[in-house]
Amino acid sequence: MSSVRTSRDGPIGVTVLGATGSIGTSTLDVLARHPERFQVVALTANRDLQGMARLCREHHPRYAAMADPDSAERLRLALRASGDTEVEVLAGAAALEQLAALPEVDYVMAAIVGAAGLRPTLAAARAGKRVLLANKEALVMTGALFMDEVRRGGAVLLPIDSEHNAVFQCLPPRYSAGLDEIGVDRILLTASGGPFRTLPAEQLHEVTPAQACAHPNWDMGRKISVDSATMMNKGLELIEACWLFATDPSRVQILVHPQSVIHSLVQYRDGSVLAQLGNPDMRTPIAHALAWPERMDSGAAALDLLAVGKLDFRPAEPARFPCLSLAYDAAAEGGICPIVLNAANEVAVAAFLERRIPITDIAVVVGRTLQQIPGERVEGWEVGQLLDVDRWARAIAEQNLTRSVG
Ligand code: NAD
Ligand code: MG
Repeated sequence: MSSVRTSRDGPIGVTVLGATGSIGTSTLDVLARHPERFQVVALTANRDLQGMARLCREHHPRYAAMADPDSAERLRLALRASGDTEVEVLAGAAALEQLAALPEVDYVMAAIVGAAGLRPTLAAARAGKRVLLANKEALVMTGALFMDEVRRGGAVLLPIDSEHNAVFQCLPPRYSAGLDEIGVDRILLTASGGPFRTLPAEQLHEVTPAQACAHPNWDMGRKISVDSATMMNKGLELIEACWLFATDPSRVQILVHPQSVIHSLVQYRDGSVLAQLGNPDMRTPIAHALAWPERMDSGAAALDLLAVGKLDFRPAEPARFPCLSLAYDAAAEGGICPIVLNAANEVAVAAFLERRIPITDIAVVVGRTLQQIPGERVEGWEVGQLLDVDRWARAIAEQNLTRSVG
């Protein structure tokens, strides 16, 4: 790990990629509690003009970038009209990479949703930043290459996903040597089971986007909410865990835990099981990764175990959640399969949110797309080649949407 930066060296410069989203705004909430320690240097978003204008007025970044050029122009006009002329507004996807690699930035929160976050997150890794990784899709798509860029760039990669942050907290510092080296038998990832955990299977195909986005424990963006409802989220997290903790899927078990109080566990060879607990509030893993190896206030309420009362556990049901089986297979197969899984899922989730397909067809579209694309190894591939597979898989998934509706 490279040197630890603390508040004693002056404020730490931070870029928040995906600032207007659920993780982005939670990050800014935490940062605002520690103005002496952190300085918001740059914020990025796609096209949420109102959200970005508000964040610029509240957090006074030096730079704000909108991936969508029209939105950038409108942001420029809106900030000028309100007299907020200190913020320099940039436009387009390349500007996001630039803001992730600024010399005055030490930490980058990678909180763009989906494959769109890949290039700016990689730019932060190459530039040797502390990368706070929420954007799991980027790691799922490019696993080995991503980890390689982190090593070569001298970056520090810290997981924000609550499960992976929990595992990180339960592991010793030299975990990248591999689980056997540190005496770990298994990683246990907990899953809430989402809003449809107990819904009769025959009613699943009728659920609406609004129902799917109403998660029982977490308040999240729409895409990850749907992924939680299908449990594809846990499938992506399985792949994410394999890369982060240098293991294979056979050593990662999914445990359904409806209360979302235990965020994940590590089972050691000697019989010890370490867990991290807390209220379901993403500000805890965000504050952990921002302050690491220190600790600081996150704004999250203290956990009251007497109020929680009991903690339940059940096995995951792959038959009820076919996306989970597809992800296990893609993880075991490796090569281009995780890219195809992720791309087809992004296409299918968007189609469900637009009410073009029922939620049960997400697994159908992903499964068909995986079958139609021959497995290939990816060793030595450039990011451009990986993104070609992503585009190819999206085109095939789009065709499968039509077949699924017809
Ligand atoms: P969100 O939809 O609330 O926010 C997404 C952000 O990404 C927004 O700022 C949006 O403007 C930006 N964005 C979207 N498309 C873009 C594009 N094409 N180019 C540039 N920017 C774009 O999503 P979220 O719930 O905050 O999730 C963000 C990431 O964090 C996801 O990868 C998700 O899986 C992960 N994550 C989220 C949570 C959570 O509690 N929300 C928990 C764990 C992991
Ligand atoms: Mg998670």
